[in-house]
Amino acid sequence: MKLLQDRIRQDGEALSSHVLKVDSFLNHQVDSALTMAIGQAFAAEFGAERVTKVLTIEASGIHFALATAVALGVPFIYAKKKKAITLTEDLYSVPVHSFTRGETFNVSVSKRYLSATDRVLIVDDFLATGDALLGLREIVTQSGAHLVGLGAVVEKSFQEGRSKLEATGVRIHSLARIKSMSPDHIEFIEETAA
Ligand code: 5GP
Repeated sequence: MKLLQDRIRQDGEALSSHVLKVDSFLNHQVDSALTMAIGQAFAAEFGAERVTKVLTIEASGIHFALATAVALGVPFIYAKKKKAITLTEDLYSVPVHSFTRGETFNVSVSKRYLSATDRVLIVDDFLATGDALLGLREIVTQSGAHLVGLGAVVEKSFQEGRSKLEATGVRIHSLARIKSMSPDHIEFIEETAA
């Protein structure tokens, strides 16, 4: 997605060769028009798949899941990072290690909102080690729903996440794929299709 790549080049800050700061437009202050365009891009990619729910993980995936769900005309669910007091019903649950925080969270979704009749599109902000998306995939597996695909806004292609997820056979669509980065340069894997 050229608009997104241009914005990452302009406003993204590679803090090191591994960590990209995007909190002026993607995950702290949020560019709402860009977020809606991101939702449209995921909807265009997966729109033929009869998606019934979009699934993400709190907090930084939520606005992208909302934008995607609006574009597809379906609800979205955000998995919670620990069992909240209000979640008293049965849960699908999986431990997920957080790349940025260095902690392991219990990620859960109420069984009321995901079932075997659903067709699920998972969306998240980053694909890095793949642990967050593998955790969400496991929740979909527990529910018996059909996983249509995974959408990542930014993929750090030099990390192992994509290959771990590809090994599960799932369709992956990332809007900006970073081949390598350093504090003064970000190189993308160019898209072959529009
Ligand atoms: P994972 O390593 O499981 O693929 O990524 C988990 C989460 O870590 C992502 O959803 C994202 O919130 C965060 N994350 C991973 N790499 C980066 C990064 O380079 N920059 C930022 N801002 N967040 C990241």
